[in-house]
Amino acid sequence: MLEPNIAGAAPLDRRRPIRALPDGLISQIAAGEVVERPASVVKELLENALDAGATRIELRLEEGGVRRISVTDNGGGIAPGELGLALLRHATSKIVSLDELEEVATLGFRGEALASIASVAQVTITSRLAGAEHASQIEGDHPAAAPVAAAGAPGTVIEVRDLYANIPARRKFLKSTATETAHCLEALRRVALAHCEVSFTAYVDGRRVANWPAVSWAQRALAALGEEFADAHHVIDAGSALLGLRGLVGLPTASRTRADRQFFHVNGRFVRDRVLAHAVRQAYADVLHGDRQPVYALALTLDPRLVDVNVHPAKIEVRFRDQQAVHRLVHHAVRDALRGAAGAAAGPAAGPGAAVRQRLDWPAAMPGWGAGMAGGTQSRLELGQPQQSYGSGAASANFGSPATEPGSAAPPLGYALGLLNGAYILAQAADGLIVVDMHAAHERIVYERLKAQHDAQSVAVQPLLIPATLRVDAVTVAGVEEQAETLHALGLDCSVLSPTSIAVRSVPALLGAADPVELARAVLAELFTHGTTNTIEEQRNELLATMACHGAVRANRQLDLHEMNALLRQMERTPGADQCNHGRPTWLRVTMAELDQWFLRGQ
Ligand code: ADP
Ligand code: MG
Repeated sequence: MLEPNIAGAAPLDRRRPIRALPDGLISQIAAGEVVERPASVVKELLENALDAGATRIELRLEEGGVRRISVTDNGGGIAPGELGLALLRHATSKIVSLDELEEVATLGFRGEALASIASVAQVTITSRLAGAEHASQIEGDHPAAAPVAAAGAPGTVIEVRDLYANIPARRKFLKSTATETAHCLEALRRVALAHCEVSFTAYVDGRRVANWPAVSWAQRALAALGEEFADAHHVIDAGSALLGLRGLVGLPTASRTRADRQFFHVNGRFVRDRVLAHAVRQAYADVLHGDRQPVYALALTLDPRLVDVNVHPAKIEVRFRDQQAVHRLVHHAVRDALRGAAGAAAGPAAGPGAAVRQRLDWPAAMPGWGAGMAGGTQSRLELGQPQQSYGSGAASANFGSPATEPGSAAPPLGYALGLLNGAYILAQAADGLIVVDMHAAHERIVYERLKAQHDAQSVAVQPLLIPATLRVDAVTVAGVEEQAETLHALGLDCSVLSPTSIAVRSVPALLGAADPVELARAVLAELFTHGTTNTIEEQRNELLATMACHGAVRANRQLDLHEMNALLRQMERTPGADQCNHGRPTWLRVTMAELDQWFLRGQ
């Protein structure tokens, strides 16, 4: 006999005849995909209720949904004669033809969910049509039996009990009751987010845990994301009726370590999609470090014919006909929203909606300081927004001039007093003290200037008198030849010296201080490790960010007061300057009032 293979499955030692699988087993196999855990049942039942046009939906869970899941809706109901069909595999009221599949607007259409669920649990369906005198009921065990009369309001109640009781192996994979409950409620949250016009109530072991009345989508999104984002988000409403995007995106300062508050819906369906996730990620790339996770709830709407929803049994993945267009819309809309706030720092040109105030707790902002302060005062620091008192020319993209208009009021970021610890510029502004993370701020400025030059196809270069050489592998050498133009456009002229070495002949003038070898290594590494989903622009931005990081003044380089003031003036003029490319704040303000408070003055 052959050895068992690595997976432990032994090949059959004798040939067996080919047979069609019995229906029940087919459903149980399908259930493996559709009914992964109680939360999958919750999702399917909620979606069915929405497809039935319900405006009020109640979810009840017992023991993490394993013992009981029930969903009650006030939708259109099921005719008594069709109750058995609802439980039949591949029986659906939602599509009748391929044409209809291609433009399906309902959440379900495969006709698989109830059959799958009924194959791994006890199902009871009670339903009443709007005009009917009473409800009718059917048991999943006997789909062919005549329905019995039952009590019930118009709409449908579907009860699912003892999940996986007949498949002990499956049951072992389930986690604790608390974990399964949490997953069920997460499924509810996902559905509820996309359907703000419907009210949802949830009970766990008889206790009410969620009660979301019908509200506006923005209110529903905040209810789902958490009230802590009430002041820390931007609203997005972009695109057209053909392809539109709306939702909320959290400020970078409201980012999290886990990707647990990211919701993307496509035509009302929660999805996990690489293209969409990537587009959002890219939009945040300028302002958020890679290991921080943004918070967002976004909903894409498009003509159903432009998206294939039939690529995943639980329909959690989709495929777009025009992936590029979708990526572009999402990326640009989110990026612009994030910029909207940052750009406001550049001057009064910004609209009223841009007056975003980000707040940070003082002790967290400066570890070690809070403890020494009188009574550990919970004083708060204002981040990011200079007062809008600066001259009207401030919104211009004039990066170059460090000069301050004489006679004008103190600029928002004030005048430099000195450098603390080689890293922080301290400046006196009209109403207090400004502290600037010098490296982060400079990195941001260099990045925006590089971007502007690159856009104008005129990156100023500084030729190296003595070309810097570096040893690289053969793949990189080939890449350098292929990408010579890209590199040239970035201001980084490289040439191949040998099969294992290249020479750097020029670097962007803006990065004069950078080590050309280190710079080239970082850029080449970046250039050759990109996935194919990156658009040219995204790739360019990442490259420019990498370059800016190398070109920015490092902590401990001494700047004189004039240079510091020049940096402050540049910050005032740079879009997005209040956050570095990694999403950390670049500066903060301590107001005179706060200083007075610390020293118990005037109280
Ligand atoms: P699908 O949703 O893909 O059609 P399901 O197995 O989930 O497949 O449901 C089968 C059919 O049962 C649906 O097409 C629908 O006609 C009916 N149905 C299920 N749940 C409900 C409900 N809550 N209200 C009205 N009809 C329902
Ligand atoms: Mg369904």
